[in-house]
Amino acid sequence: VIRCRAAVAWAVGKPLSVEEVEVSPPKAGEVRVKIVATSICRTDDHVLEGCFPNVVFPVIPGHEGAGIVESVGEGVTSVKPGDKVIPLCLPQCGECSFCLNPESNYCLKSHVSEPQNLLPDKTSRFTCKGKQIHHFLWVSTFAEYTVMPEYAVAKIDTAAPLDKVCLLGCGFPTGYGAAINTAKVKPGSTCAIFGLGGVGLSVVMGCKAAGASRIIAIDINKDKFAKAKKLGATDCISPHDFKKPIQEVLTEMTGHGVDYSFEAIGHVDTLTAALASCNMNTGVCVMVGVPASGSVISIDPMLLLSGRTWKGTLLGGWKMRDCIATLVSSYLEKKFNSDVLISHTLPIAKVNEGFELLRAGK
Ligand code: NAD
Ligand code: ZN
Ligand code: ZN
Repeated sequence: VIRCRAAVAWAVGKPLSVEEVEVSPPKAGEVRVKIVATSICRTDDHVLEGCFPNVVFPVIPGHEGAGIVESVGEGVTSVKPGDKVIPLCLPQCGECSFCLNPESNYCLKSHVSEPQNLLPDKTSRFTCKGKQIHHFLWVSTFAEYTVMPEYAVAKIDTAAPLDKVCLLGCGFPTGYGAAINTAKVKPGSTCAIFGLGGVGLSVVMGCKAAGASRIIAIDINKDKFAKAKKLGATDCISPHDFKKPIQEVLTEMTGHGVDYSFEAIGHVDTLTAALASCNMNTGVCVMVGVPASGSVISIDPMLLLSGRTWKGTLLGGWKMRDCIATLVSSYLEKKFNSDVLISHTLPIAKVNEGFELLRAGK
Protein backbone atom coordinates (compact mmCIF):
# COMPACT_ATOMS: atom_id res chain seq x y z
CA VAL A 1 0.00 0.00 0.00
CA ILE A 2 1.30 3.45 -0.94
CA ARG A 3 0.40 6.53 1.08
CA CYS A 4 0.31 9.69 -1.01
CA ARG A 5 -1.68 12.85 -1.61
CA ALA A 6 -4.87 13.07 -3.62
CA ALA A 7 -7.56 15.70 -4.19
CA VAL A 8 -10.75 14.14 -2.84
CA ALA A 9 -14.27 15.37 -3.63
CA TRP A 10 -16.22 14.41 -0.51
CA ALA A 11 -19.59 15.76 -1.63
CA VAL A 12 -21.31 17.61 -4.49
CA GLY A 13 -20.71 21.36 -4.52
CA LYS A 14 -17.78 21.23 -2.05
CA PRO A 15 -14.22 22.25 -2.96
CA LEU A 16 -11.70 19.45 -3.36
CA SER A 17 -9.79 18.49 -0.26
CA VAL A 18 -6.12 17.50 -0.57
CA GLU A 19 -5.76 14.47 1.70
CA GLU A 20 -3.37 11.66 2.48
CA VAL A 21 -4.86 8.53 0.89
CA GLU A 22 -3.88 4.87 0.81
CA VAL A 23 -3.55 3.28 -2.62
CA SER A 24 -3.64 -0.53 -2.70
CA PRO A 25 -1.42 -2.53 -5.04
CA PRO A 26 -2.79 -3.45 -8.46
CA LYS A 27 -4.69 -6.72 -8.67
CA ALA A 28 -4.51 -9.10 -11.67
CA GLY A 29 -4.90 -7.18 -14.94
CA GLU A 30 -4.34 -3.81 -13.26
CA VAL A 31 -1.59 -1.19 -13.32
CA ARG A 32 -0.52 1.25 -10.59
CA VAL A 33 0.74 4.55 -12.01
CA LYS A 34 2.63 7.42 -10.36
CA ILE A 35 0.89 10.48 -11.79
CA VAL A 36 3.43 13.19 -12.62
CA ALA A 37 1.08 15.79 -14.08
CA THR A 38 -2.61 16.25 -14.68
CA SER A 39 -4.61 18.94 -16.37
CA ILE A 40 -8.12 20.11 -15.59
CA CYS A 41 -10.95 19.49 -18.05
CA ARG A 42 -14.35 21.12 -17.64
CA THR A 43 -15.77 17.60 -17.23
CA ASP A 44 -14.02 17.45 -13.81
CA ASP A 45 -15.90 20.60 -12.87
CA HIS A 46 -19.18 19.04 -14.08
CA VAL A 47 -18.39 16.20 -11.62
CA LEU A 48 -17.92 18.61 -8.69
CA GLU A 49 -21.20 20.31 -9.61
CA GLY A 50 -23.00 16.94 -9.45
CA CYS A 51 -24.00 16.84 -13.15
CA PHE A 52 -23.49 13.07 -13.44
CA PRO A 53 -25.62 10.92 -11.11
CA ASN A 54 -23.50 7.83 -11.90
CA VAL A 55 -20.40 9.41 -10.30
CA VAL A 56 -20.41 8.28 -6.67
CA PHE A 57 -18.93 10.44 -3.88
CA PRO A 58 -16.48 10.53 -2.19
CA VAL A 59 -14.45 10.37 -5.39
CA ILE A 60 -11.01 11.29 -6.68
CA PRO A 61 -11.67 13.12 -9.97
CA GLY A 62 -9.17 13.97 -12.73
CA HIS A 63 -8.88 12.22 -16.06
CA GLU A 64 -6.22 14.08 -18.07
CA GLY A 65 -2.96 12.80 -16.67
CA ALA A 66 0.43 11.40 -17.51
CA GLY A 67 2.73 9.31 -15.36
CA ILE A 68 5.06 6.40 -14.87
CA VAL A 69 4.08 2.79 -14.18
CA GLU A 70 5.00 1.95 -10.57
CA SER A 71 3.89 -1.70 -10.50
CA VAL A 72 1.69 -4.12 -12.42
CA GLY A 73 -0.66 -6.89 -11.40
CA GLU A 74 -0.53 -10.50 -12.52
CA GLY A 75 -0.94 -11.07 -16.24
CA VAL A 76 -0.16 -7.50 -17.33
CA THR A 77 2.05 -7.57 -20.43
CA SER A 78 1.61 -4.30 -22.35
CA VAL A 79 3.34 -2.07 -19.77
CA LYS A 80 6.05 -2.57 -17.13
CA PRO A 81 7.37 -0.54 -14.17
CA GLY A 82 9.22 2.56 -15.40
CA ASP A 83 7.19 2.98 -18.62
CA LYS A 84 5.79 6.44 -19.32
CA VAL A 85 2.02 6.19 -19.82
CA ILE A 86 -1.18 8.14 -20.32
CA PRO A 87 -4.25 6.78 -18.48
CA LEU A 88 -7.24 6.46 -20.80
CA CYS A 89 -10.58 7.84 -19.65
CA LEU A 90 -12.08 5.96 -22.60
CA PRO A 91 -10.70 2.42 -22.36
CA GLN A 92 -10.11 0.01 -25.21
CA CYS A 93 -10.63 -3.59 -24.11
CA GLY A 94 -9.94 -4.83 -27.63
CA GLU A 95 -12.53 -7.59 -27.31
CA CYS A 96 -16.02 -6.06 -27.33
CA SER A 97 -18.02 -5.63 -30.55
CA PHE A 98 -17.32 -1.88 -30.67
CA CYS A 99 -13.57 -2.34 -30.09
CA LEU A 100 -13.56 -4.89 -32.93
CA ASN A 101 -15.32 -2.40 -35.24
CA PRO A 102 -12.64 -0.30 -36.95
CA GLU A 103 -15.04 2.66 -37.21
CA SER A 104 -15.83 2.86 -33.49
CA ASN A 105 -13.73 4.22 -30.65
CA TYR A 106 -16.37 3.44 -28.06
CA CYS A 107 -15.55 0.45 -25.84
CA LEU A 108 -18.44 -1.25 -24.09
CA LYS A 109 -16.40 -1.06 -20.86
CA SER A 110 -16.68 2.77 -21.02
CA HIS A 111 -18.51 4.82 -18.42
CA VAL A 112 -21.56 5.45 -20.59
CA SER A 113 -22.35 1.70 -20.55
CA GLU A 114 -20.83 0.67 -17.20
CA PRO A 115 -20.17 2.73 -14.07
CA GLN A 116 -16.45 3.24 -13.43
CA ASN A 117 -16.69 4.24 -9.75
CA LEU A 118 -15.05 0.97 -8.83
CA LEU A 119 -12.53 -1.16 -10.69
CA PRO A 120 -13.93 -4.08 -12.75
CA ASP A 121 -13.92 -6.43 -9.70
CA LYS A 122 -16.29 -3.90 -8.00
CA THR A 123 -13.80 -2.81 -5.32
CA SER A 124 -11.81 0.40 -4.87
CA ARG A 125 -8.04 0.72 -4.48
CA PHE A 126 -8.40 4.02 -2.55
CA THR A 127 -9.11 4.67 1.11
CA CYS A 128 -8.90 7.86 3.15
CA LYS A 129 -9.53 8.25 6.89
CA GLY A 130 -10.85 4.69 6.97
CA LYS A 131 -13.41 5.30 4.22
CA GLN A 132 -13.54 3.80 0.74
CA ILE A 133 -13.02 6.46 -1.95
CA HIS A 134 -14.40 5.95 -5.46
CA HIS A 135 -12.51 6.00 -8.73
CA PHE A 136 -13.49 8.36 -11.55
CA LEU A 137 -13.55 7.00 -15.12
CA TRP A 138 -11.15 4.39 -13.65
CA VAL A 139 -8.24 6.85 -13.94
CA SER A 140 -8.56 9.34 -11.00
CA THR A 141 -5.56 11.43 -12.03
CA PHE A 142 -5.89 13.87 -9.09
CA ALA A 143 -4.00 11.30 -7.01
CA GLU A 144 -0.23 10.94 -6.86
CA TYR A 145 -0.71 7.18 -7.37
CA THR A 146 -3.70 5.59 -9.05
CA VAL A 147 -4.73 2.12 -10.20
CA MET A 148 -6.54 1.24 -13.43
CA PRO A 149 -7.19 -1.78 -15.65
CA GLU A 150 -4.43 -2.49 -18.18
CA TYR A 151 -6.82 -1.71 -21.03
CA ALA A 152 -7.25 1.84 -19.66
CA VAL A 153 -3.59 2.83 -19.99
CA ALA A 154 -1.28 3.37 -22.98
CA LYS A 155 2.50 3.36 -23.13
CA ILE A 156 4.06 6.46 -24.71
CA ASP A 157 7.52 7.58 -25.90
CA THR A 158 10.13 7.84 -23.13
CA ALA A 159 11.08 11.31 -24.46
CA ALA A 160 7.59 12.72 -23.81
CA PRO A 161 7.46 15.63 -21.30
CA LEU A 162 4.72 14.42 -18.94
CA ASP A 163 3.79 17.94 -17.79
CA LYS A 164 2.88 18.75 -21.40
CA VAL A 165 1.46 15.52 -22.84
CA CYS A 166 -1.00 15.10 -19.96
CA LEU A 167 -3.29 17.24 -22.16
CA LEU A 168 -3.36 14.33 -24.59
CA GLY A 169 -5.38 12.36 -22.03
CA CYS A 170 -8.61 14.13 -22.99
CA GLY A 171 -8.96 17.78 -24.05
CA PHE A 172 -6.57 17.96 -26.99
CA PRO A 173 -7.44 14.66 -28.73
CA THR A 174 -11.15 15.35 -28.17
CA GLY A 175 -11.16 18.68 -29.97
CA TYR A 176 -8.55 17.86 -32.60
CA GLY A 177 -10.18 14.50 -33.39
CA ALA A 178 -13.68 16.03 -33.48
CA ALA A 179 -12.51 17.99 -36.54
CA ILE A 180 -10.28 15.37 -38.15
CA ASN A 181 -12.01 12.07 -37.33
CA THR A 182 -15.63 12.83 -36.48
CA ALA A 183 -16.45 15.69 -38.87
CA LYS A 184 -13.70 14.80 -41.39
CA VAL A 185 -13.29 18.49 -42.23
CA LYS A 186 -12.36 18.97 -45.91
CA PRO A 187 -9.77 21.40 -47.27
CA GLY A 188 -11.23 24.77 -48.25
CA SER A 189 -14.27 24.39 -46.01
CA THR A 190 -15.82 26.80 -43.51
CA CYS A 191 -16.06 25.84 -39.82
CA ALA A 192 -17.62 27.39 -36.72
CA ILE A 193 -16.53 26.50 -33.19
CA PHE A 194 -18.72 27.37 -30.21
CA GLY A 195 -16.66 27.65 -27.00
CA LEU A 196 -12.92 28.30 -26.88
CA GLY A 197 -11.78 26.40 -23.81
CA GLY A 198 -9.11 23.72 -24.07
CA VAL A 199 -11.45 21.56 -26.13
CA GLY A 200 -12.75 24.26 -28.50
CA LEU A 201 -9.23 25.60 -29.16
CA SER A 202 -8.18 22.05 -30.03
CA VAL A 203 -11.08 21.93 -32.53
CA VAL A 204 -9.67 25.14 -34.06
CA MET A 205 -6.28 23.39 -34.38
CA GLY A 206 -7.93 20.34 -35.99
CA CYS A 207 -9.89 22.46 -38.51
CA LYS A 208 -6.70 24.33 -39.41
CA ALA A 209 -4.73 21.08 -39.81
CA ALA A 210 -7.50 19.70 -42.04
CA GLY A 211 -7.13 22.71 -44.35
CA ALA A 212 -10.32 24.66 -43.54
CA SER A 213 -10.10 28.07 -45.20
CA ARG A 214 -12.45 29.93 -42.86
CA ILE A 215 -12.59 29.19 -39.13
CA ILE A 216 -15.11 31.20 -37.13
CA ALA A 217 -14.50 31.05 -33.38
CA ILE A 218 -17.35 31.93 -31.01
CA ASP A 219 -17.15 32.71 -27.31
CA ILE A 220 -18.78 35.11 -24.87
CA ASN A 221 -15.34 35.63 -23.28
CA LYS A 222 -13.34 37.79 -25.70
CA ASP A 223 -10.12 37.10 -23.78
CA LYS A 224 -10.16 33.76 -25.61
CA PHE A 225 -9.88 35.35 -29.05
CA ALA A 226 -6.11 36.01 -29.07
CA LYS A 227 -5.25 32.31 -28.67
CA ALA A 228 -7.95 31.27 -31.15
CA LYS A 229 -6.45 33.62 -33.76
CA LYS A 230 -2.95 32.36 -33.05
CA LEU A 231 -4.17 28.80 -33.68
CA GLY A 232 -5.88 29.57 -36.97
CA ALA A 233 -9.27 31.23 -36.37
CA THR A 234 -10.01 33.69 -39.18
CA ASP A 235 -12.97 35.39 -37.43
CA CYS A 236 -13.75 35.66 -33.70
CA ILE A 237 -17.22 36.71 -32.61
CA SER A 238 -19.17 37.06 -29.38
CA PRO A 239 -22.92 36.34 -29.39
CA HIS A 240 -23.25 39.30 -26.98
CA ASP A 241 -22.33 41.71 -29.78
CA PHE A 242 -25.41 40.85 -31.85
CA LYS A 243 -29.11 41.37 -31.35
CA LYS A 244 -30.08 38.43 -33.56
CA PRO A 245 -29.42 34.77 -32.71
CA ILE A 246 -25.87 33.67 -33.46
CA GLN A 247 -27.03 31.04 -35.99
CA GLU A 248 -28.56 33.84 -38.08
CA VAL A 249 -25.32 35.83 -37.81
CA LEU A 250 -23.32 32.82 -39.03
CA THR A 251 -25.76 32.13 -41.87
CA GLU A 252 -25.41 35.74 -43.04
CA MET A 253 -21.63 35.65 -42.74
CA THR A 254 -21.36 32.53 -44.89
CA GLY A 255 -24.35 32.65 -47.25
CA HIS A 256 -26.03 29.35 -46.33
CA GLY A 257 -24.34 28.40 -43.07
CA VAL A 258 -20.98 26.79 -42.37
CA ASP A 259 -19.90 23.37 -43.66
CA TYR A 260 -19.00 22.14 -40.15
CA SER A 261 -20.07 23.41 -36.74
CA PHE A 262 -18.82 22.20 -33.36
CA GLU A 263 -20.27 22.81 -29.92
CA ALA A 264 -17.62 22.64 -27.19
CA ILE A 265 -19.54 24.20 -24.28
CA GLY A 266 -22.19 21.70 -23.17
CA HIS A 267 -25.38 23.82 -23.08
CA VAL A 268 -28.59 22.81 -24.81
CA ASP A 269 -29.12 26.30 -26.27
CA THR A 270 -25.67 26.47 -27.88
CA LEU A 271 -26.04 22.86 -29.09
CA THR A 272 -29.20 23.86 -30.91
CA ALA A 273 -27.60 27.06 -32.24
CA ALA A 274 -24.61 25.08 -33.53
CA LEU A 275 -26.92 22.66 -35.35
CA ALA A 276 -28.79 25.51 -37.04
CA SER A 277 -25.50 27.19 -38.01
CA CYS A 278 -24.36 24.55 -40.48
CA ASN A 279 -25.84 24.52 -43.96
CA MET A 280 -29.23 22.87 -44.31
CA ASN A 281 -28.17 20.14 -46.72
CA THR A 282 -24.56 18.99 -46.42
CA GLY A 283 -23.74 20.70 -43.11
CA VAL A 284 -22.31 18.58 -40.31
CA CYS A 285 -22.67 19.57 -36.65
CA VAL A 286 -20.58 17.80 -34.02
CA MET A 287 -21.62 17.83 -30.39
CA VAL A 288 -18.49 17.85 -28.23
CA GLY A 289 -19.64 19.62 -25.04
CA VAL A 290 -21.19 17.41 -22.36
CA PRO A 291 -24.63 18.60 -21.23
CA ALA A 292 -25.80 17.78 -17.69
CA SER A 293 -27.36 14.31 -17.60
CA GLY A 294 -31.11 14.42 -18.03
CA SER A 295 -30.93 17.45 -20.37
CA VAL A 296 -33.46 17.40 -23.19
CA ILE A 297 -33.16 19.23 -26.53
CA SER A 298 -36.20 20.15 -28.56
CA ILE A 299 -35.59 21.02 -32.21
CA ASP A 300 -37.56 21.72 -35.37
CA PRO A 301 -37.29 18.38 -37.26
CA MET A 302 -36.98 20.35 -40.52
CA LEU A 303 -33.42 21.16 -39.42
CA LEU A 304 -32.50 17.53 -40.10
CA LEU A 305 -35.01 16.64 -42.82
CA SER A 306 -33.23 18.89 -45.30
CA GLY A 307 -30.09 16.76 -45.01
CA ARG A 308 -27.97 18.11 -42.16
CA THR A 309 -25.95 15.61 -40.14
CA TRP A 310 -25.82 15.87 -36.36
CA LYS A 311 -23.30 13.70 -34.57
CA GLY A 312 -21.49 13.42 -31.30
CA THR A 313 -17.96 12.49 -30.37
CA LEU A 314 -16.25 10.91 -27.42
CA LEU A 315 -12.54 11.68 -27.19
CA GLY A 316 -12.54 12.83 -30.81
CA GLY A 317 -13.13 9.39 -32.25
CA TRP A 318 -9.63 8.06 -31.49
CA LYS A 319 -9.30 4.43 -30.48
CA MET A 320 -7.34 5.59 -27.47
CA ARG A 321 -5.04 2.65 -26.77
CA ASP A 322 -4.09 2.35 -30.44
CA CYS A 323 -3.70 6.08 -31.12
CA ILE A 324 -2.30 7.82 -28.04
CA ALA A 325 1.31 6.79 -28.59
CA THR A 326 1.12 8.05 -32.19
CA LEU A 327 -0.39 11.35 -31.05
CA VAL A 328 2.44 11.73 -28.52
CA SER A 329 4.98 11.05 -31.30
CA SER A 330 3.26 13.69 -33.47
CA TYR A 331 3.52 16.11 -30.53
CA LEU A 332 7.26 15.35 -30.23
CA GLU A 333 7.63 15.91 -34.01
CA LYS A 334 5.89 19.29 -33.49
CA LYS A 335 3.01 18.42 -35.85
CA PHE A 336 0.75 20.37 -33.47
CA ASN A 337 1.38 22.62 -30.52
CA SER A 338 -0.87 21.62 -27.64
CA ASP A 339 1.41 23.58 -25.24
CA VAL A 340 -0.54 26.71 -26.27
CA LEU A 341 -3.42 25.34 -24.20
CA ILE A 342 -1.42 25.52 -20.97
CA SER A 343 -2.32 28.76 -19.19
CA HIS A 344 -1.11 28.10 -15.63
CA THR A 345 0.95 25.47 -13.81
CA LEU A 346 0.12 24.78 -10.15
CA PRO A 347 1.09 22.25 -7.48
CA ILE A 348 -1.59 19.74 -6.40
CA ALA A 349 -2.05 21.65 -3.14
CA LYS A 350 -3.55 24.51 -5.22
CA VAL A 351 -5.96 22.34 -7.21
CA ASN A 352 -8.95 24.43 -6.09
CA GLU A 353 -7.21 27.54 -7.39
CA GLY A 354 -6.99 25.75 -10.75
CA PHE A 355 -10.77 25.27 -10.74
CA GLU A 356 -11.28 28.93 -9.77
CA LEU A 357 -9.19 29.97 -12.78
CA LEU A 358 -11.24 27.65 -15.03
CA ARG A 359 -14.52 29.08 -13.73
CA ALA A 360 -13.24 32.63 -14.14
CA GLY A 361 -12.52 31.91 -17.83
CA LYS A 362 -8.76 32.25 -17.33
P1 NAD B 1 -14.05 25.38 -20.80
O1 NAD B 1 -14.97 25.75 -19.71
O2 NAD B 1 -12.60 25.62 -20.66
O3 NAD B 1 -14.52 26.13 -22.15
C1 NAD B 1 -15.86 26.44 -22.45
C2 NAD B 1 -15.88 27.78 -23.18
O4 NAD B 1 -17.23 28.06 -23.58
C3 NAD B 1 -15.41 28.96 -22.33
O5 NAD B 1 -14.40 29.67 -23.00
C4 NAD B 1 -16.69 29.80 -22.15
O6 NAD B 1 -16.43 31.20 -22.10
C5 NAD B 1 -17.47 29.44 -23.41
N1 NAD B 1 -18.91 29.67 -23.31
C6 NAD B 1 -19.71 29.43 -22.23
N2 NAD B 1 -21.00 29.76 -22.54
C7 NAD B 1 -20.99 30.19 -23.82
C8 NAD B 1 -22.01 30.67 -24.71
N3 NAD B 1 -23.27 30.73 -24.34
N4 NAD B 1 -21.65 31.03 -25.97
C9 NAD B 1 -20.36 30.96 -26.37
N5 NAD B 1 -19.35 30.52 -25.57
C10 NAD B 1 -19.67 30.15 -24.32
O7 NAD B 1 -14.33 23.84 -21.10
P2 NAD B 1 -13.47 22.70 -21.86
O8 NAD B 1 -12.58 22.03 -20.88
O9 NAD B 1 -12.92 23.26 -23.11
O10 NAD B 1 -14.66 21.67 -22.17
C11 NAD B 1 -15.70 22.04 -23.07
C12 NAD B 1 -16.83 21.02 -23.03
O11 NAD B 1 -16.36 19.79 -23.63
C13 NAD B 1 -17.31 20.65 -21.64
O12 NAD B 1 -18.72 20.48 -21.66
C14 NAD B 1 -16.65 19.30 -21.38
O13 NAD B 1 -17.35 18.53 -20.44
C15 NAD B 1 -16.71 18.71 -22.77
N6 NAD B 1 -15.80 17.60 -23.08
C16 NAD B 1 -16.26 16.62 -23.88
C17 NAD B 1 -15.46 15.56 -24.23
C18 NAD B 1 -15.95 14.49 -25.15
O14 NAD B 1 -15.35 13.41 -25.19
N7 NAD B 1 -17.01 14.73 -25.91
C19 NAD B 1 -14.15 15.51 -23.73
C20 NAD B 1 -13.68 16.58 -22.95
C21 NAD B 1 -14.52 17.61 -22.62
ZN1 ZN C 1 -12.07 15.64 -20.31
ZN1 ZN D 1 -14.04 -2.78 -25.77
